[in-house]
Amino acid sequence: MTALKASQKAKLPTRHGIFTIQAFAHEGKEHLAIFSDPLPPVPLLRVHSECLTGDVFGSLKCDCGSELSIAMERIAKEGGIALYLRQEGRGIGLFHKVNAYALQDQGYDTVEANLALGFKEDERNYEVVGEILSFYGIDEVKLLTNNPKKVEAMSHFVKIHSREAILAPHNCYNENYLKTKQEKLGHLL
Ligand SMILES: [Zn+2]
Repeated sequence: MTALKASQKAKLPTRHGIFTIQAFAHEGKEHLAIFSDPLPPVPLLRVHSECLTGDVFGSLKCDCGSELSIAMERIAKEGGIALYLRQEGRGIGLFHKVNAYALQDQGYDTVEANLALGFKEDERNYEVVGEILSFYGIDEVKLLTNNPKKVEAMSHFVKIHSREAILAPHNCYNENYLKTKQEKLGHLL
């Protein structure tokens, strides 16, 4: 067990609602928790891995930005917590992600591109989630995800009350991305 360092809590008004924000330092990385305060007994939980292009620049190559907005709206309404993990590009980082995008421009799908660059199809690690959830004393959640592997990963840290789907809109750029998620990564879309 490595040391988890927590910042002070602060208010964060957003277009979705007013949340409390807290930062965590863990193994040289900085992560965020954004939650409705006070938390309900069984909060919604969204574990979101950083996607700079989708979350910030509105990229249509993936559904990360829409998923995050939908999650924040639901958390504002029903009560819950979003953990924003700094593991860009399924854990390969921004530099390699852009190289993977270049391969996708040549016809590789998202999984093939990561494999061609010498990575696993998904390099993400969720260990810090368990530590943050126990920091807040959260032991049961409604998990917001379409990813069965994430349900499995989270079930080691917390009791899963239910899985809640997030259905982000399709567009002409993310059709292959969503198809690969569904067919190769087992997402329930
Ligand atoms: Zn994305």
